[in-house]
Amino acid sequence: MNERFKDKNVNSKLRFIPLGGNGQVTKNMYVYEYGKDIIIIDCGMGFPSEIMYGVDMVIPDISYLNDKRDRIRAIFITHGHEDHIGALPYLIDKLSAPIYATKLTIGLMKIRLKEQNKLSFTKFHQVEPRRQYQVGNFKVEPIQLSHSIPDSVAYAVTTPVGTVIHTGDYKFDQTPVDGKTTDEARLGELGSKGVLALMSDCLRSEKPGRTLSESVIQENFEKVIKSAKGRVLITTFSSNVSRMQQAINASVKYGRKVCIVGRSMEQNARTASELSYLSIPKDLLVKMEKVDKVPDKNITIIIAGSQGQPGSALARIANSDHQWLYIKAGDEIIFSADPIPGNQDAVYEMIDNLSRLGAHVYYSDITSDFHVSGHGAQEELKLMLTLTKPRFVVPISAMYRQMRQYSLLAQSIGIPQENVLITDEGAIIEFSHNSAKIVGEIETTNIFVDGIGVGDVGSIVLRDRKVLAEEGIVVVIVTVDKARNKLQGDPDIVSRGFVYMKESEKLIKESQDVVKKSIQSNGKIKNWLAVREKVTSDLSRFLYKKTARRPMVIPVIVGV
Ligand SMILES: [Zn+2]
Repeated sequence: MNERFKDKNVNSKLRFIPLGGNGQVTKNMYVYEYGKDIIIIDCGMGFPSEIMYGVDMVIPDISYLNDKRDRIRAIFITHGHEDHIGALPYLIDKLSAPIYATKLTIGLMKIRLKEQNKLSFTKFHQVEPRRQYQVGNFKVEPIQLSHSIPDSVAYAVTTPVGTVIHTGDYKFDQTPVDGKTTDEARLGELGSKGVLALMSDCLRSEKPGRTLSESVIQENFEKVIKSAKGRVLITTFSSNVSRMQQAINASVKYGRKVCIVGRSMEQNARTASELSYLSIPKDLLVKMEKVDKVPDKNITIIIAGSQGQPGSALARIANSDHQWLYIKAGDEIIFSADPIPGNQDAVYEMIDNLSRLGAHVYYSDITSDFHVSGHGAQEELKLMLTLTKPRFVVPISAMYRQMRQYSLLAQSIGIPQENVLITDEGAIIEFSHNSAKIVGEIETTNIFVDGIGVGDVGSIVLRDRKVLAEEGIVVVIVTVDKARNKLQGDPDIVSRGFVYMKESEKLIKESQDVVKKSIQSNGKIKNWLAVREKVTSDLSRFLYKKTARRPMVIPVIVGV
Protein backbone atom coordinates (compact mmCIF):
# COMPACT_ATOMS: atom_id res chain seq x y z
CA MET A 1 0.00 0.00 0.00
CA ASN A 2 1.00 3.56 -0.66
CA GLU A 3 3.08 4.85 2.27
CA ARG A 4 1.32 8.17 2.33
CA PHE A 5 -1.95 6.42 2.96
CA LYS A 6 -0.56 4.53 5.91
CA ASP A 7 0.88 7.70 7.40
CA LYS A 8 -2.23 9.76 7.13
CA ASN A 9 -4.46 6.83 7.89
CA VAL A 10 -6.93 8.01 5.26
CA ASN A 11 -7.72 4.57 3.97
CA SER A 12 -10.66 4.33 6.33
CA LYS A 13 -12.05 7.64 5.10
CA LEU A 14 -13.81 8.71 1.93
CA ARG A 15 -12.22 11.58 0.07
CA PHE A 16 -14.13 13.85 -2.30
CA ILE A 17 -12.28 16.29 -4.55
CA PRO A 18 -13.94 18.50 -7.20
CA LEU A 19 -11.48 18.94 -10.10
CA GLY A 20 -13.95 21.29 -11.78
CA GLY A 21 -17.59 22.26 -11.63
CA ASN A 22 -17.39 24.11 -8.32
CA GLY A 23 -17.14 27.84 -8.78
CA GLN A 24 -17.73 27.74 -12.55
CA VAL A 25 -20.83 25.66 -13.45
CA THR A 26 -19.21 23.78 -16.35
CA LYS A 27 -16.11 21.51 -16.54
CA ASN A 28 -17.67 18.99 -14.15
CA MET A 29 -15.29 16.37 -12.78
CA TYR A 30 -15.24 14.85 -9.29
CA VAL A 31 -12.88 12.38 -7.65
CA TYR A 32 -13.98 9.89 -4.98
CA GLU A 33 -11.21 8.06 -3.17
CA TYR A 34 -11.50 5.27 -0.64
CA GLY A 35 -8.52 3.20 0.45
CA LYS A 36 -6.53 2.47 -2.68
CA ASP A 37 -9.51 2.80 -4.99
CA ILE A 38 -10.57 5.85 -6.97
CA ILE A 39 -13.66 6.50 -9.03
CA ILE A 40 -14.38 9.60 -11.06
CA ILE A 41 -17.79 11.09 -11.77
CA ASP A 42 -18.10 13.08 -15.03
CA CYS A 43 -15.39 14.51 -17.25
CA GLY A 44 -16.73 17.70 -18.78
CA MET A 45 -15.45 20.66 -20.73
CA GLY A 46 -15.71 24.33 -19.80
CA PHE A 47 -16.38 27.29 -22.06
CA PRO A 48 -13.53 29.80 -22.38
CA SER A 49 -14.18 33.26 -20.98
CA GLU A 50 -13.82 36.38 -23.12
CA ILE A 51 -10.24 37.00 -21.93
CA MET A 52 -9.09 33.52 -22.98
CA TYR A 53 -8.26 34.73 -26.50
CA GLY A 54 -8.42 31.99 -29.12
CA VAL A 55 -8.97 29.18 -26.63
CA ASP A 56 -11.49 26.60 -27.90
CA MET A 57 -12.34 24.99 -24.58
CA VAL A 58 -11.16 24.50 -21.03
CA ILE A 59 -10.69 21.04 -19.51
CA PRO A 60 -10.05 19.90 -15.93
CA ASP A 61 -6.52 19.68 -14.55
CA ILE A 62 -5.91 16.03 -13.63
CA SER A 63 -2.35 16.43 -12.27
CA TYR A 64 -3.59 15.13 -8.91
CA LEU A 65 -4.28 11.77 -10.57
CA ASN A 66 -0.94 11.51 -12.39
CA ASP A 67 0.69 9.18 -9.86
CA LYS A 68 -2.59 7.39 -9.06
CA ARG A 69 -3.60 6.15 -12.48
CA ASP A 70 -3.37 2.49 -11.55
CA ARG A 71 -5.86 3.11 -8.75
CA ILE A 72 -8.64 4.57 -10.93
CA ARG A 73 -11.26 1.82 -11.13
CA ALA A 74 -13.95 3.54 -13.19
CA ILE A 75 -15.39 6.73 -14.60
CA PHE A 76 -19.14 7.15 -14.07
CA ILE A 77 -20.97 9.66 -16.27
CA THR A 78 -24.26 11.26 -15.18
CA HIS A 79 -25.53 12.43 -18.59
CA GLY A 80 -24.55 13.36 -22.13
CA HIS A 81 -24.18 17.16 -21.93
CA GLU A 82 -20.82 18.57 -23.07
CA ASP A 83 -20.00 20.02 -19.65
CA HIS A 84 -20.14 16.43 -18.31
CA ILE A 85 -18.55 14.43 -21.17
CA GLY A 86 -16.70 16.98 -23.34
CA ALA A 87 -13.20 16.55 -21.83
CA LEU A 88 -13.16 12.76 -22.30
CA PRO A 89 -11.52 12.81 -25.76
CA TYR A 90 -8.63 14.82 -24.26
CA LEU A 91 -8.22 12.90 -21.00
CA ILE A 92 -9.29 9.30 -21.61
CA ASP A 93 -5.81 8.10 -22.65
CA LYS A 94 -4.40 9.52 -19.41
CA LEU A 95 -7.14 8.10 -17.20
CA SER A 96 -7.30 4.69 -18.87
CA ALA A 97 -10.31 3.45 -16.93
CA PRO A 98 -13.59 1.89 -18.05
CA ILE A 99 -16.59 4.19 -18.43
CA TYR A 100 -19.97 3.42 -16.85
CA ALA A 101 -23.01 5.26 -18.18
CA THR A 102 -26.55 4.84 -19.48
CA LYS A 103 -27.26 3.82 -23.08
CA LEU A 104 -27.83 7.25 -24.66
CA THR A 105 -24.93 8.80 -22.75
CA ILE A 106 -22.62 6.07 -24.09
CA GLY A 107 -23.91 6.71 -27.62
CA LEU A 108 -23.15 10.43 -27.37
CA MET A 109 -19.70 9.81 -25.83
CA LYS A 110 -18.79 7.40 -28.60
CA ILE A 111 -19.43 10.13 -31.21
CA ARG A 112 -17.00 12.50 -29.43
CA LEU A 113 -14.33 9.83 -28.87
CA LYS A 114 -14.55 8.54 -32.42
CA GLU A 115 -14.02 12.05 -33.81
CA GLN A 116 -10.65 12.19 -32.02
CA ASN A 117 -9.72 8.55 -32.71
CA LYS A 118 -9.87 7.74 -28.99
CA LEU A 119 -12.56 5.09 -29.08
CA SER A 120 -10.05 2.30 -28.51
CA PHE A 121 -8.75 3.83 -25.28
CA THR A 122 -11.64 2.70 -23.12
CA LYS A 123 -14.31 0.09 -22.46
CA PHE A 124 -17.93 0.98 -21.89
CA HIS A 125 -20.29 -0.57 -19.37
CA GLN A 126 -23.94 0.25 -19.85
CA VAL A 127 -25.73 0.83 -16.54
CA GLU A 128 -29.39 0.59 -15.56
CA PRO A 129 -31.05 2.50 -12.73
CA ARG A 130 -31.76 0.54 -9.52
CA ARG A 131 -28.90 -1.88 -10.20
CA GLN A 132 -25.65 -1.92 -8.26
CA TYR A 133 -22.15 -1.99 -9.70
CA GLN A 134 -19.21 -3.04 -7.57
CA VAL A 135 -15.91 -1.38 -8.53
CA GLY A 136 -13.13 -1.90 -6.00
CA ASN A 137 -14.38 -0.71 -2.64
CA PHE A 138 -17.23 1.24 -4.20
CA LYS A 139 -20.77 0.06 -4.72
CA VAL A 140 -22.41 2.41 -7.20
CA GLU A 141 -26.10 2.63 -8.08
CA PRO A 142 -27.59 4.84 -10.81
CA ILE A 143 -30.83 6.65 -9.96
CA GLN A 144 -33.12 7.90 -12.72
CA LEU A 145 -33.46 11.70 -12.97
CA SER A 146 -35.25 14.15 -15.21
CA HIS A 147 -33.10 16.85 -16.80
CA SER A 148 -33.09 18.36 -20.31
CA ILE A 149 -31.59 15.26 -21.94
CA PRO A 150 -32.95 11.71 -21.65
CA ASP A 151 -31.16 8.99 -19.68
CA SER A 152 -29.77 11.27 -16.94
CA VAL A 153 -28.86 9.63 -13.65
CA ALA A 154 -27.56 10.42 -10.19
CA TYR A 155 -25.20 7.96 -8.53
CA ALA A 156 -25.51 6.60 -5.01
CA VAL A 157 -21.94 5.75 -4.00
CA THR A 158 -21.57 3.37 -1.07
CA THR A 159 -18.32 2.68 0.79
CA PRO A 160 -17.77 1.30 4.31
CA VAL A 161 -18.21 4.86 5.72
CA GLY A 162 -21.72 5.19 4.27
CA THR A 163 -23.65 6.25 1.18
CA VAL A 164 -23.26 9.55 -0.62
CA ILE A 165 -25.53 10.65 -3.46
CA HIS A 166 -23.98 12.57 -6.35
CA THR A 167 -26.86 14.12 -8.27
CA GLY A 168 -25.43 15.48 -11.50
CA ASP A 169 -27.95 17.90 -13.11
CA TYR A 170 -31.62 17.39 -12.24
CA LYS A 171 -35.09 18.71 -11.81
CA PHE A 172 -38.34 17.15 -10.68
CA ASP A 173 -40.26 17.36 -13.94
CA GLN A 174 -43.58 15.51 -13.69
CA THR A 175 -44.06 15.53 -17.47
CA PRO A 176 -40.63 15.15 -19.07
CA VAL A 177 -40.43 14.56 -22.83
CA ASP A 178 -39.33 10.93 -22.45
CA GLY A 179 -41.82 10.26 -19.63
CA LYS A 180 -39.05 9.26 -17.21
CA THR A 181 -39.48 11.20 -13.98
CA THR A 182 -36.98 11.56 -11.17
CA ASP A 183 -37.10 8.37 -9.09
CA GLU A 184 -38.45 9.90 -5.88
CA ALA A 185 -39.27 6.50 -4.41
CA ARG A 186 -35.69 5.24 -4.65
CA LEU A 187 -34.24 8.52 -3.36
CA GLY A 188 -36.66 8.28 -0.41
CA GLU A 189 -35.66 4.66 0.29
CA LEU A 190 -31.99 5.58 0.35
CA GLY A 191 -32.86 8.54 2.58
CA SER A 192 -34.62 6.36 5.12
CA LYS A 193 -31.68 3.96 5.19
CA GLY A 194 -29.35 6.86 5.91
CA VAL A 195 -27.41 9.10 3.54
CA LEU A 196 -24.07 10.40 4.74
CA ALA A 197 -23.84 13.21 2.20
CA LEU A 198 -25.64 14.74 -0.76
CA MET A 199 -23.56 16.33 -3.51
CA SER A 200 -26.22 18.41 -5.21
CA ASP A 201 -26.58 20.48 -8.37
CA CYS A 202 -27.59 23.96 -7.16
CA LEU A 203 -27.40 26.12 -10.30
CA ARG A 204 -30.91 27.53 -9.79
CA SER A 205 -30.78 27.92 -6.01
CA GLU A 206 -31.49 31.65 -6.45
CA LYS A 207 -34.84 30.99 -8.16
CA PRO A 208 -37.93 30.50 -5.99
CA GLY A 209 -40.60 27.94 -6.82
CA ARG A 210 -40.21 25.15 -9.35
CA THR A 211 -38.74 25.08 -12.84
CA LEU A 212 -41.44 24.75 -15.51
CA SER A 213 -41.93 21.36 -17.09
CA GLU A 214 -40.40 20.63 -20.49
CA SER A 215 -43.94 19.90 -21.71
CA VAL A 216 -44.87 23.61 -21.89
CA ILE A 217 -42.35 23.97 -24.70
CA GLN A 218 -44.15 21.58 -26.99
CA GLU A 219 -47.44 23.48 -26.67
CA ASN A 220 -45.63 26.71 -27.54
CA PHE A 221 -43.85 25.11 -30.51
CA GLU A 222 -47.23 23.91 -31.73
CA LYS A 223 -48.75 27.40 -31.52
CA VAL A 224 -46.02 28.87 -33.75
CA ILE A 225 -45.87 25.94 -36.15
CA LYS A 226 -49.65 25.94 -36.56
CA SER A 227 -50.00 29.65 -37.30
CA ALA A 228 -46.79 30.28 -39.27
CA LYS A 229 -47.43 30.93 -42.96
CA GLY A 230 -43.83 30.25 -43.96
CA ARG A 231 -40.92 28.17 -42.73
CA VAL A 232 -40.13 27.68 -39.06
CA LEU A 233 -36.51 27.36 -37.91
CA ILE A 234 -35.81 26.08 -34.40
CA THR A 235 -32.36 26.31 -32.86
CA THR A 236 -31.16 24.70 -29.63
CA PHE A 237 -28.11 22.94 -28.16
CA SER A 238 -27.09 20.04 -30.34
CA SER A 239 -27.24 17.70 -27.34
CA ASN A 240 -30.80 18.71 -26.50
CA VAL A 241 -32.44 15.54 -27.80
CA SER A 242 -35.66 16.23 -25.88
CA ARG A 243 -36.11 19.60 -27.56
CA MET A 244 -35.52 18.00 -30.98
CA GLN A 245 -38.25 15.48 -30.17
CA GLN A 246 -40.68 18.27 -29.30
CA ALA A 247 -39.93 20.14 -32.51
CA ILE A 248 -40.47 16.90 -34.46
CA ASN A 249 -43.73 16.10 -32.65
CA ALA A 250 -45.15 19.57 -33.27
CA SER A 251 -44.10 19.45 -36.94
CA VAL A 252 -45.69 16.03 -37.50
CA LYS A 253 -48.92 17.24 -35.92
CA TYR A 254 -49.24 20.12 -38.39
CA GLY A 255 -48.05 18.37 -41.52
CA ARG A 256 -44.51 19.71 -41.74
CA LYS A 257 -41.45 17.83 -42.91
CA VAL A 258 -38.27 18.29 -40.88
CA CYS A 259 -34.72 19.11 -41.92
CA ILE A 260 -31.93 18.77 -39.32
CA VAL A 261 -28.94 21.01 -40.03
CA GLY A 262 -25.50 21.13 -38.39
CA ARG A 263 -22.91 18.36 -38.08
CA SER A 264 -23.15 17.68 -34.34
CA MET A 265 -26.91 18.08 -34.40
CA GLU A 266 -27.25 15.51 -37.20
CA GLN A 267 -24.86 13.09 -35.47
CA ASN A 268 -26.65 13.38 -32.14
CA ALA A 269 -30.05 12.96 -33.79
CA ARG A 270 -28.87 9.87 -35.69
CA THR A 271 -27.38 8.26 -32.58
CA ALA A 272 -30.40 9.10 -30.41
CA SER A 273 -32.78 7.71 -32.98
CA GLU A 274 -30.73 4.52 -33.52
CA LEU A 275 -30.86 3.95 -29.76
CA SER A 276 -34.62 4.69 -29.69
CA TYR A 277 -34.35 7.91 -27.67
CA LEU A 278 -35.60 10.03 -30.54
CA SER A 279 -38.61 8.97 -32.51
CA ILE A 280 -38.55 10.17 -36.11
CA PRO A 281 -41.40 8.93 -38.34
CA LYS A 282 -40.29 7.33 -41.59
CA ASP A 283 -40.01 9.76 -44.52
CA LEU A 284 -40.21 12.79 -42.23
CA LEU A 285 -36.67 14.01 -42.77
CA VAL A 286 -35.69 16.12 -45.75
CA LYS A 287 -32.09 16.74 -46.80
CA MET A 288 -31.11 20.40 -46.80
CA GLU A 289 -30.41 20.31 -50.54
CA LYS A 290 -34.10 19.47 -51.01
CA VAL A 291 -35.62 22.01 -48.60
CA ASP A 292 -36.52 24.37 -51.45
CA LYS A 293 -38.64 21.66 -53.07
CA VAL A 294 -40.97 21.58 -50.03
CA PRO A 295 -43.59 24.36 -49.73
CA ASP A 296 -42.55 26.85 -47.02
CA LYS A 297 -45.54 26.13 -44.83
CA ASN A 298 -44.68 22.44 -44.81
CA ILE A 299 -41.14 22.53 -43.44
CA THR A 300 -39.47 22.93 -40.04
CA ILE A 301 -35.70 23.32 -39.92
CA ILE A 302 -33.99 22.23 -36.69
CA ILE A 303 -30.64 23.94 -36.78
CA ALA A 304 -27.43 24.14 -34.73
CA GLY A 305 -25.86 27.41 -33.64
CA SER A 306 -28.04 28.70 -30.80
CA GLN A 307 -24.95 30.15 -29.09
CA GLY A 308 -23.84 32.15 -32.10
CA GLN A 309 -20.78 29.93 -32.57
CA PRO A 310 -18.85 31.19 -35.61
CA GLY A 311 -19.05 28.66 -38.41
CA SER A 312 -22.24 27.07 -37.07
CA ALA A 313 -25.07 26.51 -39.53
CA LEU A 314 -27.25 29.32 -38.15
CA ALA A 315 -24.34 31.79 -38.02
CA ARG A 316 -23.60 31.05 -41.67
CA ILE A 317 -27.23 31.54 -42.65
CA ALA A 318 -27.29 34.83 -40.73
CA ASN A 319 -24.22 35.92 -42.71
CA SER A 320 -25.83 34.73 -45.97
CA ASP A 321 -23.00 32.33 -46.72
CA HIS A 322 -24.61 28.93 -46.28
CA GLN A 323 -24.34 26.67 -49.31
CA TRP A 324 -27.97 25.53 -49.34
CA LEU A 325 -30.00 27.60 -46.93
CA TYR A 326 -30.91 31.27 -46.79
CA ILE A 327 -33.43 33.40 -44.96
CA LYS A 328 -36.65 34.35 -46.69
CA ALA A 329 -38.91 37.18 -45.55
CA GLY A 330 -41.57 35.60 -43.38
CA ASP A 331 -39.36 32.87 -41.87
CA GLU A 332 -40.01 32.43 -38.15
CA ILE A 333 -36.97 31.54 -36.04
CA ILE A 334 -37.25 30.20 -32.50
CA PHE A 335 -34.28 30.34 -30.11
CA SER A 336 -34.97 27.42 -27.80
CA ALA A 337 -31.92 28.02 -25.61
CA ASP A 338 -30.66 30.88 -23.48
CA PRO A 339 -27.27 32.32 -24.38
CA ILE A 340 -24.54 31.06 -22.06
CA PRO A 341 -22.83 34.01 -20.32
CA GLY A 342 -19.99 35.08 -22.61
CA ASN A 343 -21.93 34.22 -25.78
CA GLN A 344 -24.50 37.04 -25.55
CA ASP A 345 -22.80 39.44 -27.97
CA ALA A 346 -22.45 36.78 -30.65
CA VAL A 347 -26.07 35.68 -30.21
CA TYR A 348 -27.45 39.22 -30.39
CA GLU A 349 -25.39 40.00 -33.48
CA MET A 350 -26.83 36.92 -35.14
CA ILE A 351 -30.40 37.86 -34.14
CA ASP A 352 -29.82 41.34 -35.61
CA ASN A 353 -28.63 39.86 -38.89
CA LEU A 354 -31.50 37.36 -39.09
CA SER A 355 -33.99 40.16 -38.44
CA ARG A 356 -32.35 42.32 -41.09
CA LEU A 357 -32.84 39.49 -43.60
CA GLY A 358 -36.57 39.60 -42.90
CA ALA A 359 -37.07 36.81 -40.37
CA HIS A 360 -39.23 37.09 -37.29
CA VAL A 361 -37.14 35.93 -34.34
CA TYR A 362 -38.37 34.69 -30.95
CA TYR A 363 -35.60 34.97 -28.34
CA SER A 364 -35.38 34.98 -24.57
CA ASP A 365 -35.68 38.77 -24.07
CA ILE A 366 -39.07 38.89 -25.76
CA THR A 367 -40.51 35.56 -24.66
CA SER A 368 -39.75 32.80 -22.18
CA ASP A 369 -42.08 30.42 -24.03
CA PHE A 370 -39.40 28.38 -25.76
CA HIS A 371 -36.84 27.51 -23.18
CA VAL A 372 -37.01 26.12 -19.67
CA SER A 373 -34.00 25.26 -17.56
CA GLY A 374 -32.96 21.66 -17.01
CA HIS A 375 -32.11 22.47 -13.40
CA GLY A 376 -34.45 22.43 -10.42
CA ALA A 377 -35.36 25.66 -8.60
CA GLN A 378 -35.58 26.11 -4.83
CA GLU A 379 -38.60 23.90 -4.14
CA GLU A 380 -37.07 21.02 -6.11
CA LEU A 381 -33.68 21.40 -4.42
CA LYS A 382 -35.51 21.25 -1.08
CA LEU A 383 -37.44 18.19 -2.23
CA MET A 384 -34.16 16.40 -3.00
CA LEU A 385 -32.93 17.27 0.50
CA THR A 386 -36.09 16.08 2.23
CA LEU A 387 -36.16 12.83 0.27
CA THR A 388 -32.54 11.92 0.88
CA LYS A 389 -32.21 13.38 4.41
CA PRO A 390 -28.43 13.72 4.18
CA ARG A 391 -26.30 14.37 7.21
CA PHE A 392 -23.88 16.53 5.20
CA VAL A 393 -24.42 18.57 2.08
CA VAL A 394 -21.93 19.63 -0.59
CA PRO A 395 -23.29 21.99 -3.28
CA ILE A 396 -21.65 21.32 -6.66
CA SER A 397 -21.72 22.47 -10.26
CA ALA A 398 -22.43 26.17 -9.69
CA MET A 399 -20.93 29.58 -8.98
CA TYR A 400 -19.97 30.46 -5.43
CA ARG A 401 -23.01 32.71 -4.93
CA GLN A 402 -25.34 29.89 -5.96
CA MET A 403 -23.62 27.42 -3.62
CA ARG A 404 -24.02 30.00 -0.85
CA GLN A 405 -27.77 30.38 -1.60
CA TYR A 406 -28.07 26.60 -1.58
CA SER A 407 -26.47 26.55 1.85
CA LEU A 408 -29.16 28.94 3.15
CA LEU A 409 -31.83 26.76 1.56
CA ALA A 410 -30.45 23.65 3.28
CA GLN A 411 -30.36 25.48 6.59
CA SER A 412 -33.97 26.58 6.12
CA ILE A 413 -35.04 22.94 6.27
CA GLY A 414 -32.98 22.17 9.34
CA ILE A 415 -29.52 21.16 8.15
CA PRO A 416 -26.98 22.81 10.46
CA GLN A 417 -24.76 25.37 8.77
CA GLU A 418 -21.60 23.50 9.79
CA ASN A 419 -22.86 20.44 7.88
CA VAL A 420 -22.95 22.32 4.58
CA LEU A 421 -19.51 22.31 2.96
CA ILE A 422 -19.04 24.96 0.31
CA THR A 423 -15.83 24.37 -1.60
CA ASP A 424 -13.92 25.62 -4.56
CA GLU A 425 -12.27 23.43 -7.16
CA GLY A 426 -9.38 21.48 -5.64
CA ALA A 427 -10.70 21.26 -2.07
CA ILE A 428 -10.30 17.89 -0.34
CA ILE A 429 -13.23 16.82 1.81
CA GLU A 430 -12.82 13.80 4.03
CA PHE A 431 -15.78 11.83 5.30
CA SER A 432 -15.86 9.31 8.13
CA HIS A 433 -19.11 7.57 9.07
CA ASN A 434 -20.08 10.55 11.23
CA SER A 435 -17.93 13.49 10.19
CA ALA A 436 -17.02 15.62 7.19
CA LYS A 437 -14.13 18.04 7.05
CA ILE A 438 -12.25 20.07 4.48
CA VAL A 439 -8.75 18.77 5.15
CA GLY A 440 -6.72 20.45 2.46
CA GLU A 441 -6.48 21.63 -1.07
CA ILE A 442 -4.73 20.52 -4.23
CA GLU A 443 -3.45 22.93 -6.80
CA THR A 444 -5.36 23.07 -10.06
CA THR A 445 -5.16 25.29 -13.09
CA ASN A 446 -7.25 25.69 -16.23
CA ILE A 447 -6.00 23.51 -19.08
CA PHE A 448 -6.71 25.13 -22.43
CA VAL A 449 -7.49 23.33 -25.66
CA ASP A 450 -6.56 25.34 -28.76
CA GLY A 451 -6.72 23.59 -32.12
CA ILE A 452 -4.98 20.25 -31.67
CA GLY A 453 -2.87 21.56 -28.77
CA VAL A 454 -3.86 20.56 -25.24
CA GLY A 455 -2.21 22.46 -22.39
CA ASP A 456 0.43 24.13 -24.58
CA VAL A 457 -1.29 27.51 -24.31
CA GLY A 458 -0.57 28.77 -20.81
CA SER A 459 -0.71 32.05 -18.95
CA ILE A 460 2.27 33.57 -20.80
CA VAL A 461 0.81 32.87 -24.25
CA LEU A 462 -2.53 34.25 -23.08
CA ARG A 463 -0.88 37.39 -21.72
CA ASP A 464 0.74 37.98 -25.12
CA ARG A 465 -2.58 37.40 -26.89
CA LYS A 466 -4.22 39.91 -24.56
CA VAL A 467 -1.60 42.59 -25.40
CA LEU A 468 -1.87 41.80 -29.12
CA ALA A 469 -5.67 41.98 -28.97
CA GLU A 470 -5.86 45.16 -26.96
CA GLU A 471 -2.74 47.13 -27.94
CA GLY A 472 -1.37 45.64 -31.16
CA ILE A 473 2.23 45.02 -32.16
CA VAL A 474 5.18 47.08 -33.43
CA VAL A 475 8.06 45.23 -35.08
CA VAL A 476 11.37 47.05 -35.57
CA ILE A 477 13.76 45.57 -38.12
CA VAL A 478 17.32 46.75 -37.74
CA THR A 479 20.00 45.80 -40.25
CA VAL A 480 23.57 45.83 -38.95
CA ASP A 481 26.89 45.47 -40.62
CA LYS A 482 28.31 42.71 -38.46
CA ALA A 483 31.92 43.17 -39.52
CA ARG A 484 31.93 46.79 -38.44
CA ASN A 485 29.26 46.51 -35.72
CA LYS A 486 27.37 49.42 -37.27
CA LEU A 487 23.79 50.20 -38.10
CA GLN A 488 23.07 49.96 -41.82
CA GLY A 489 20.38 52.27 -43.20
CA ASP A 490 17.19 53.28 -41.36
CA PRO A 491 15.33 50.79 -39.16
CA ASP A 492 12.10 49.43 -40.69
CA ILE A 493 9.00 49.77 -38.56
CA VAL A 494 5.95 47.60 -39.14
CA SER A 495 2.83 47.62 -37.01
CA ARG A 496 -0.48 45.74 -36.84
CA GLY A 497 -3.40 46.64 -34.63
CA PHE A 498 -1.58 49.66 -33.18
CA VAL A 499 -1.92 52.58 -35.59
CA TYR A 500 -2.83 52.77 -39.24
CA MET A 501 0.66 53.03 -40.73
CA LYS A 502 -0.26 55.10 -43.78
CA GLU A 503 -1.74 57.86 -41.63
CA SER A 504 1.01 57.81 -39.03
CA GLU A 505 4.07 58.76 -41.04
CA LYS A 506 5.25 61.30 -38.49
CA LEU A 507 5.03 58.85 -35.62
CA ILE A 508 6.89 56.20 -37.62
CA LYS A 509 9.62 58.65 -38.59
CA GLU A 510 10.05 59.75 -34.98
CA SER A 511 10.10 56.10 -33.88
CA GLN A 512 12.90 55.38 -36.35
CA ASP A 513 14.90 58.24 -34.82
CA VAL A 514 14.31 56.88 -31.32
CA VAL A 515 15.56 53.45 -32.40
CA LYS A 516 18.65 54.90 -34.14
CA LYS A 517 19.52 57.00 -31.10
CA SER A 518 18.99 54.03 -28.84
CA ILE A 519 21.42 51.90 -30.84
CA GLN A 520 24.04 54.60 -31.34
CA SER A 521 24.08 55.45 -27.64
CA ASN A 522 25.71 52.07 -27.21
CA GLY A 523 28.80 53.26 -29.04
CA LYS A 524 30.59 50.35 -30.66
CA ILE A 525 28.07 47.56 -30.29
CA LYS A 526 29.19 44.29 -28.78
CA ASN A 527 26.25 42.93 -26.85
CA TRP A 528 23.28 42.64 -29.24
CA LEU A 529 21.02 41.21 -26.55
CA ALA A 530 21.47 44.38 -24.49
CA VAL A 531 20.79 46.46 -27.59
CA ARG A 532 17.51 44.64 -28.19
CA GLU A 533 16.40 45.29 -24.63
CA LYS A 534 17.32 48.96 -24.82
CA VAL A 535 15.50 49.44 -28.14
CA THR A 536 12.40 47.76 -26.68
CA SER A 537 12.31 49.92 -23.57
CA ASP A 538 13.19 53.21 -25.32
CA LEU A 539 10.62 52.73 -28.07
CA SER A 540 7.90 51.50 -25.68
CA ARG A 541 8.44 54.58 -23.51
CA PHE A 542 8.34 56.89 -26.55
CA LEU A 543 5.16 55.31 -27.97
CA TYR A 544 3.42 55.51 -24.61
CA LYS A 545 4.33 59.19 -24.30
CA LYS A 546 2.93 59.89 -27.77
CA THR A 547 -0.16 57.65 -27.77
CA ALA A 548 -0.84 56.42 -24.19
CA ARG A 549 -0.82 52.89 -25.67
CA ARG A 550 1.47 49.99 -24.86
CA PRO A 551 1.81 47.85 -27.98
CA MET A 552 4.03 44.79 -27.95
CA VAL A 553 7.43 45.93 -29.30
CA ILE A 554 9.62 43.33 -30.98
CA PRO A 555 13.04 44.32 -32.33
CA VAL A 556 14.53 42.04 -34.94
CA ILE A 557 18.24 42.46 -35.64
CA VAL A 558 19.44 41.21 -38.99
CA GLY A 559 23.20 40.88 -39.47
CA VAL A 560 24.67 41.27 -42.97
ZN1 LIG B 1 -26.77 18.95 -17.97
